[in-house]
Amino acid sequence: TGSSEPPPKLVLDLERLQSVPAEKAGPLARYAATIQGQRGDYNGKVLSIRTDDLRTLAVIYDVPPAVLAEQLITWGVLNADARRAVASED
Ligand code: C2E
Ligand code: C2E
Ligand code: C2E
Repeated sequence: TGSSEPPPKLVLDLERLQSVPAEKAGPLARYAATIQGQRGDYNGKVLSIRTDDLRTLAVIYDVPPAVLAEQLITWGVLNADARRAVASED
């Protein structure tokens, strides 16, 4: 709170996601594919998602949202700026 910066965009790199081992990337890949299907957005190299979607994914991965964000940034599938979206959460 107290920030006047605009909220960061969360952008998944779908090409990098394909190079992450399936046992780690599986839930994220299925979630992203579902959003693509809902939007009819099949040909993109990247996919913008909602902050709420990152929170939902954190429940699926059973880690705090900030921890998941760092993991995804380390894999190279999430833009580093996205950590601001969940940085203030416990
Ligand atoms: P919805 O949430 O009822 O959104 C209906 C339409 O409003 C969307 O159709 C889209 O044209 C627009 N819309 C809603 N929120 C945003 C937004 O933050 N940015 C933009 N640019 N447009 C927005 P669309 O894209 O065909 O999606 C259809 C439905 O698929 C959505 O219905 C929602 O239930 C689901 N969906 C699509 N993308 C996402 C997503 O990133 N996360 C989640 N949780 N659901 C999504
Ligand atoms: P941006 O948000 O920086 O996105 C840059 C480019 O990344 C987009 O170029 C598009 O090629 C790709 N991209 C980003 N998110 C997605 C996604 O969820 N699916 C797919 N398939 N591609 C994605 P594009 O489409 O020419 O858009 C240029 C700029 O126009 C965007 O820059 C953004 O500033 C604006 N824009 C486009 N669509 C929307 C939208 O639905 N909502 C808002 N607010 N701005 C949009
Ligand atoms: P964006 O399109 O630039 O939208 C930025 C923020 O504006 C969204 O952040 C959301 O808080 C608000 N917003 C935009 N359109 C709508 C709308 O129709 N209804 C509501 N209730 N809020 C809206 P958010 O939710 O974190 O989404 C981040 C980005 O994810 C969006 O940037 C867009 O690129 C993508 N996105 C999210 N949901 C949808 C969707 O349903 N359809 C599509 N095509 N893109 C979506």
